Amino acid sequence: MNQEKILVIDFGGQYNQLVARRVRECNVYCEIYSYKTDLEQIKAMKPKGIILTGGPDSCYEEGAASCSRELFELGIPILGLCYGAQVMMHVLGGHVCKAPVREYGKIEVAVDRSSKLFADVSEKTICWMSHNDYIEKEAPGFTIIAHTPNCPVAAAESAERQLYAFQFHPEVLHTQEGKKMLHNFVYGVCGCMGTWKMDAFVEMSIQAIREKVGDGKVLCALSGGVDSSVAAVMLAKAVGDQLTCVFVDHGLLRKNEGNEVEEVFGPNGPYKLHFIRVNAQQRFYDRLKGVEDPERKRKIIGEEFIRVFEEEAKKIGAVDFLVQGTIYPDVVESGLGGESAVIKSHHNVGGLPDYVDFKEIIEPLRDLFKDEVRKVGLELGIPEKLVYRQPFPGPGLGIRIIGEVTPEKVTMVQEADAIYREEIAKAGLDREIGQYFAALTNMRSVGVMGDGRTYDYAIALRAVNTIDFMTAEAAELPWEVLSKTANRIVNEVKNVNRVLYDCTGKPPGTIEFE
Ligand code: GLN
Repeated sequence: MNQEKILVIDFGGQYNQLVARRVRECNVYCEIYSYKTDLEQIKAMKPKGIILTGGPDSCYEEGAASCSRELFELGIPILGLCYGAQVMMHVLGGHVCKAPVREYGKIEVAVDRSSKLFADVSEKTICWMSHNDYIEKEAPGFTIIAHTPNCPVAAAESAERQLYAFQFHPEVLHTQEGKKMLHNFVYGVCGCMGTWKMDAFVEMSIQAIREKVGDGKVLCALSGGVDSSVAAVMLAKAVGDQLTCVFVDHGLLRKNEGNEVEEVFGPNGPYKLHFIRVNAQQRFYDRLKGVEDPERKRKIIGEEFIRVFEEEAKKIGAVDFLVQGTIYPDVVESGLGGESAVIKSHHNVGGLPDYVDFKEIIEPLRDLFKDEVRKVGLELGIPEKLVYRQPFPGPGLGIRIIGEVTPEKVTMVQEADAIYREEIAKAGLDREIGQYFAALTNMRSVGVMGDGRTYDYAIALRAVNTIDFMTAEAAELPWEVLSKTANRIVNEVKNVNRVLYDCTGKPPGTIEFE
């Protein structure tokens, strides 16, 4: 495809995908390549600009990730970020060494607004820093365009060579005017037009899947969640009836969810694929009988899910590809891949059924963030109801029922949750709140209804706001919404006589209850 593109050169930073994402937000196509990529290959791609990412190394040490001097002589605009800036200075004759004071966190930076990159940026602006080394002396021909009390070269440029170096990270949101700076680079320096949109991503992905799959057979485990649904539709559009989707209804879904999934993907839906719904509710209830421990419940649900999926897969026989709705935050949790250091490893419970017979995995959403996945979903024509579905844990309502799971309790929490969601939507808050749901506590308490004594369960309502799901705050819901919801739940849901609101943040709480 002949379109303008920016290359991101990966030196192993933690925010590389974020850099790519910010470029995509400027409507410019972007690809990430290792710093080991051959110079000729880079030239052949004719990028409008190059961004060098951060990285864990110290550029002056033996064996550190680096790049050639020629990269800076191609006449292509280059922006180095943190490690990328240090490498640029080091290679071009500046001096980088261990900083006397390392900087970490939000730091006020004084910028020279006459630089193209700081057009419309405030003179003093908060930027995010994370470095042990610093640029002690800029390379010959460079001018300092930003500094902090501890960092003499917070940014430098050689405007006639179109080379720019930032010690801070404009890609993270803590850098208050970071988006503007990247926008200035992409438009003001690289001269991009901003013609790339999500529809182009969808088109390119579909094309790539077609080429990869050929006339092979594809299998997809559909959970009904946003990610697997978007991945499934993309595959369906690419290879049609070569795709089989297996949807395991474990009886722990939200109210009506199983049917909603079937409406979209089933034989009456718009897609030409093979859809298999396995109604395994009773199997799951049987195995969960008498089990109270949250971890055991999770394990049982995960294992049983794989078992059911495996049984179905066996009936289908060998397939060539298995589709996974992995998105970028999942990749981060399990180690970043690429050049990045593994910060923590992540065991995905109920993950890959390794006994299913397939050759290769397809993960069409691997580079995207959640909101981008939603955009792709809309682009593919998936109903909004599905696209804006809230995050839902794999073990489903199983971990929103404290203690033993029974079919009766599932009904209680389904009904209460449906009422809660309805009231939130009526109040117009459904797109505003990060995540909200009802859970069934294991507590029973005394109440009075119709002049008689009751001894029934308590529903807990939860609503949190979060940017990244790593930390969260309890949402301050309007009292009318809470009281109306509480009222309806007690009146309409059998065996519930009390409703509580969870005011705990994360940390110390988690978003889910178990
Ligand atoms: N490792 C380099 C330093 O500590 C760069 C860090 C970074 O890119 N965030 O200064």
